[in-house]
Amino acid sequence: MPTPFTPLLGLQEDGILPGETRTLGSPALDAASVAVARGLVGKQVALVTISHASELPLLVQQRWASLCEVRGATDAGITFEAVARVKLASVRGLKPPYEAEVDPAPPLPVGATDLSTLAAAAHKVLAAVHAGARPPSHTADAGVRAALGALQRALCSAQDMVSLEPYPQAEALERLAVLLTQRAPALKASVTLESAVTELSRHPAEIPRELRQRLWDQTVEILRRLDVYDPGTGSDEDDLTRLQRRLQQAGLPREAREVARRELRTMRAMETRHHDFPTYRGHLDFMARLPWHPEVLPPPDLGAVAAALDREHSALGKPKQRVLEYLAVRALGGQARSTILCLAGPPGVGKTTIASAVASALGRRFVRVALGGVHDESELRGHRLTYTAAAPGRILQGLATCGSCAPVMLLDEIDKLGTDRQRSPVGALHEVLDPEQNTHFHDNFLGVPFDLSHVLFICTANDLGSIHPTLLDRLEVVELDGYHAHEKVDIVRRHLLMRLQKESGLPQALQVEDAALALILEGHTRESGVRQLRRQLDALHRARALTRVRDGTAEVLGPVTPDEVHAVLGPRRYTRAARLPQLPPGVAVGLSVGTDGGALIHVEAALVPGKGTLHLTGRLGEVMQESAQLVLAHLRAHATRYRLDAAALAQDVHVHVPEGAIPKDGPSAGTALLAALVSVARQRPVPAEVAMTGELTLTGRVLAVGGVRAKVLAAERAGVRQVLVPADNAADVPPGVKVEVGLVTTASEVLAALWPDPAPAGGQTG
Ligand code: ADP
Repeated sequence: MPTPFTPLLGLQEDGILPGETRTLGSPALDAASVAVARGLVGKQVALVTISHASELPLLVQQRWASLCEVRGATDAGITFEAVARVKLASVRGLKPPYEAEVDPAPPLPVGATDLSTLAAAAHKVLAAVHAGARPPSHTADAGVRAALGALQRALCSAQDMVSLEPYPQAEALERLAVLLTQRAPALKASVTLESAVTELSRHPAEIPRELRQRLWDQTVEILRRLDVYDPGTGSDEDDLTRLQRRLQQAGLPREAREVARRELRTMRAMETRHHDFPTYRGHLDFMARLPWHPEVLPPPDLGAVAAALDREHSALGKPKQRVLEYLAVRALGGQARSTILCLAGPPGVGKTTIASAVASALGRRFVRVALGGVHDESELRGHRLTYTAAAPGRILQGLATCGSCAPVMLLDEIDKLGTDRQRSPVGALHEVLDPEQNTHFHDNFLGVPFDLSHVLFICTANDLGSIHPTLLDRLEVVELDGYHAHEKVDIVRRHLLMRLQKESGLPQALQVEDAALALILEGHTRESGVRQLRRQLDALHRARALTRVRDGTAEVLGPVTPDEVHAVLGPRRYTRAARLPQLPPGVAVGLSVGTDGGALIHVEAALVPGKGTLHLTGRLGEVMQESAQLVLAHLRAHATRYRLDAAALAQDVHVHVPEGAIPKDGPSAGTALLAALVSVARQRPVPAEVAMTGELTLTGRVLAVGGVRAKVLAAERAGVRQVLVPADNAADVPPGVKVEVGLVTTASEVLAALWPDPAPAGGQTG
């Protein structure tokens, strides 16, 4: 259980270990922290190691810190005595002292004495294994011996334990080191604790999987603590030796090891004040931090993935199925290994959460890399060490942050990748995704190849049309195109209310009356996903939390009513009735699919005196322009059949689409263009409650188009009475929508649906 908040100070040097007493002043503590600490004599504070003041408060969350008693304050500084290691569960505050909720360190692994000895032991064993030499002499230290015993148990299979039993511990360890190196000949002297465990797990062993996993977690935990929790602190070990040891522990591949060795040598020959010193330091530090070896992953359990997806997501039957199929083919080593899953759809339809549910069900870490606005290759690949702002690229930074080289990496918004510059990031992304190349991914900052082949990449996109074509080739696209009203109600009732309750701290999940929910859905949101919806519900939760805290009411208030929705969210933003005014002649409602899902577009046409030229304005794409020309040609050719005044159509025609459908979606506006042109020629308005989509041929046939599901859902949201959809798209119409669907195969049928009386002359075309 987290304890109440403890004052937290940032320490710009190595952490203090439990049992250690240290007097600290500037520059280890900044002036504000020193001042604060003076007032805390006799009390407890947490000290967290930071490299820059800006890490406080947010970046230190979840880090390890030392809980210290402030023993005294003199001119020389403040004396702290560390009493325990704690994890910073959450941190708050705007200036020192920040305050942290701290979690005590979890219980030690079975048989270990205390963590510092275990960590020290792990260190020594690792060093021994690295060096391939005898383990250090430790026989004098009983604590270390016990710890080594625990570590040995964590590393050995049961069989190893038995075989090592008869030997005295020093010898047993030596044998263990040999065993590990023998089993991993490829790793030779660079066996790390991680790779040792990986190696052991490849051999059938008596230790059940869960236990192995637990041992693994503990071992990783030890390693992670070693990173900050350095038993070498205070000893005669210098900074560079420590760095060298961390590099050894990282188990670098040969090429990287060579580079590290060279740079360490350069650093040793350099003044620490030399301006290149921090550059090398940063480089080597990053090398040591990168996860070079994959952790042991349980075999992919698709049953667990299916269960996790179902548990955390309503609806989405088809996308979930597609994701599972993709993972299955991948598990069988099929072609899907070289294709990458891409979840495509408008914001708030659950792309990110699906990917993170897949990660946790597969036992992998999850990391999100935003590609939106990435214009230059160096943002993915990093900047060279010689460059002033040298830094690793986003891909490797992502791996370093999540601490695993086998996570699920979400490449978010691949469609927003900038491709306009000379050094476009597309090439680098190809290298990341291509299994032929990604075993040797080159990051300019790192300077040596890094193996990305263990990563499970998943991309997201809002708009498939904007993805660079060569990237699109690689992607296995799963479309999530938005929710029905009733699916949204289900998502709210089954998921969002519970999640928001946790986030808001209310004692019980909020009850929301059906009418209130309907009001939020219809009056306060208009979107394909549930992002806005979630935001509005969140506002209701915050309002309830405020009432509770301000009035000190302990009892749980009743369900949310429409009145409460009105009071908190204000008057409704969207109304059904006012939305569909009578259209003037020459305007028809079309449907498009854009980054936010389906949307209505108004297609306008006007006849102006002239010689029959077609003028186009608005953001009309090339395809749409052709489509307009084609529709006009069709009408001119069949003017009599459609009872149109040929002379009127011979004038100049002006077509405008105010909000512009995306260019790729051009042809699908064919039927709407037709309706607008006929409407202006006949001077009869198109009924405003009908929306349409469909490509038109020169002979007047209506062809199937894409995005019908999203378009129909958009029409439903907008309160349209009827949608006209190409008959060939019948299968794409989502079942149960609250909008009448008219299936059409010809231009005449479109016109007949719009103006049933009188029927256009000429009957069927095409
Ligand atoms: P995206 O990545 O598509 O923009 P998110 O994954 O961030 O969307 O989803 C936004 C929010 O909506 C999340 O809190 C998510 O849990 C919730 N959500 C979306 N779809 C569903 C669903 N089908 N079931 C439950 N919650 C959902």
